[in-house]
Amino acid sequence: MATAERRRDIAELERPALESALEEHGHARFHARQIFRWIYRRGVTDADAMTDLSRELRAALARDFIVTTPTLAHREISADGTEKFLLRLADGRHIESVFIPDTPAMTFCISTQVGCAMACAFCLTGKMGLVRNLTAAEIVGQVRVLAGAVNLREARFNIVLMGMGEPLHNYDETMKALRILTDEHGFDMSPRRITLSTVGLLPALERLATEAVMPNLAISLHAPTDLQRGELVPINRKYGVGDIIDACRKFPLKNRSRITFEYVLLAGVNDSPQDARRLAKLVAGVKSKVNLIPLNAAAGIPFERPSDEAVNRFAKIVADHGVAVSVRKSRGRDIRAACGQLIVEGAKKSAAQQLAVVM
Ligand code: SAH
Repeated sequence: MATAERRRDIAELERPALESALEEHGHARFHARQIFRWIYRRGVTDADAMTDLSRELRAALARDFIVTTPTLAHREISADGTEKFLLRLADGRHIESVFIPDTPAMTFCISTQVGCAMACAFCLTGKMGLVRNLTAAEIVGQVRVLAGAVNLREARFNIVLMGMGEPLHNYDETMKALRILTDEHGFDMSPRRITLSTVGLLPALERLATEAVMPNLAISLHAPTDLQRGELVPINRKYGVGDIIDACRKFPLKNRSRITFEYVLLAGVNDSPQDARRLAKLVAGVKSKVNLIPLNAAAGIPFERPSDEAVNRFAKIVADHGVAVSVRKSRGRDIRAACGQLIVEGAKKSAAQQLAVVM
């Protein structure tokens, strides 16, 4: 009898790897397609319930394989319909994922790390530091749990890698997760429905430009000069604004797609008319749009959200320079589910206590 430790976790496997694993165990490769359908489209992880497989295969699967899934530890709904999910991982760590309905699309905001190493000055997740990378199974597992919880498994939805963590700092597992999410026998997502948001880790960004599965790209710019950006996004001291814009200019974009530049607006820090003009000129040569994110303020974050007038004035200057610009509507702020508000404490505390920490 195989011990639990020796059983392969199917959630970790891309379909070709599952095909090989099945073959090694003496089964036909094509069963991988059926198994993917059960797990991703129907939400069934128990081999016994995979009724189009033979009884022998089901028994063999139950003996030799497992399918790990994050557990739903807590679920909270905002007045605006946004839902925040606290998920517990196999090692007892927790992560948060968010469901944002009707934007107009249905969107899952997914984490790629427990915590984050980037330490952006205005982000609560950054205060946690990096605890560990998520595995591809844990990244995709969030989608499996959320899609089941809000009954969207068979529907179309979008994914933004804008939860906890810096996706390009966990490159391999993130890319593996994207390949699993886009597998035609699984969720069968179009890469165009997936957006990867990054501070712009340059070598990883250049590598991303060569990938077969290419998500939409969002760059967390937040300031038009190295001097300002270095204060807000510490990694800018290594990979500066000019290099990032260069990489964006070269980034291969499909016909109508554009890079999104995210820009958190902080009162009196990066929201002046001069900042707006500089920003517009900086991104002018890139097929792009600017997404302004008025700060979601929180205790411990030493910045303030600008007034609506300041936000509108900034947006108008950018638009007047011929750059497409939008203002991100804050969603789920009442339950601390908005951008930059995801934070969980160490494994020992209960879910309720953990949420209390950020209230
Ligand atoms: N690590 C990725 C994903 C971060 S979350 C990245 O940096 O792009 C998505 C966006 O929310 C980022 O642009 C991030 O900078 C922004 N953000 C972080 N904290 C915020 C806050 N307190 N208010 C508004 N936006 C915030």
